[in-house]
Amino acid sequence: MSNVPTITLNDGRAIPQLGFGVFQVPPDETARATRTALDVGYRHIDTAQMYGNERGVGQAVRESGIDRGEVWITSKLNNGYHRPDDARREFDRTLQALDSDYVDLFLIHWPLPTRYDGDFVSTWNVLQELAADGRARSIGVSNFQVAHLERLVAETDVVPAVNQIEVHPYTTNEAVRGYGHEHQIVTEAWSPIAQGGVLDDAVVTEIAAAVGRTPAQVVLRWHIQRGDVIFPKSVTPARVEENFALFDFELDDAQMTAISGLDRGEDGRTGPNPDEFDYIPD
Ligand code: NDP
Repeated sequence: MSNVPTITLNDGRAIPQLGFGVFQVPPDETARATRTALDVGYRHIDTAQMYGNERGVGQAVRESGIDRGEVWITSKLNNGYHRPDDARREFDRTLQALDSDYVDLFLIHWPLPTRYDGDFVSTWNVLQELAADGRARSIGVSNFQVAHLERLVAETDVVPAVNQIEVHPYTTNEAVRGYGHEHQIVTEAWSPIAQGGVLDDAVVTEIAAAVGRTPAQVVLRWHIQRGDVIFPKSVTPARVEENFALFDFELDDAQMTAISGLDRGEDGRTGPNPDEFDYIPD
């Protein structure tokens, strides 16, 4: 029923390239927002332990009547749980909250290189256990820089299936994306419209006028044509629909290049630098 393309991961599984993100969706609104997305046709939901709303995602999938096997659900390990026993216990809680006996993709949310004596490798080894027993069907990381990925590749046997990082026209993050391309790690682009911050840019609005689409659709289409996985967030039903209508138009090479040219490098980030970020929620 859906016209969303899939991307094949290095473990052979196919992930829908477009999904729905629920960061900053309040827990008591998550079931409704996720249900709206499922009704529109989204079959991929991106949540996290840190967002506090996995339960609402599980509820929406259950109440939608859609087969669990038709919806891709990603969640992520919270920053306070990198020690192996904590990671195993909290993963169980994720499955309970989702009311599912598996998750499609489980990620280490942040590398936290200044915490845990810089050891994210033993956390990655726990995710490999979860993959081996089938409860995390695919495993990956988030906010990993090139040096962090190099360590996993050098010290462990399993290359992450994805790396979920900040990517949008103001921070194109090419070095990390490039490493991913070379090592079959799919890039998932978080905050794909920079939380709305790129939508007023004249380059974007001019292209939107030229192709007869909204600025959000133009920026999301730019990601799709670059081959990254995206999951824009919105609690506004009309926008949820708008963000799903990306597969009946194309940007030409000049339009793609103009949007990529908006890159401001580190200055363009909306979120923290992963080398420094050390936040552990209470
Ligand atoms: P987005 O770039 O998806 O932007 C969301 C914001 O843009 C909201 O304020 C929303 O408003 C608004 N918006 C959405 N669609 C439109 C539209 N068509 N026109 C105008 N405004 C629009 O930001 P997120 O930070 O939420 O990123 C998306 C997802 O990425 C997250 O939900 C999460 O799943 C993931 N993520 C992962 C991170 C990580 O560390 N791994 C970090 C950050 C995000 P409204 O809701 O009011 O409609």
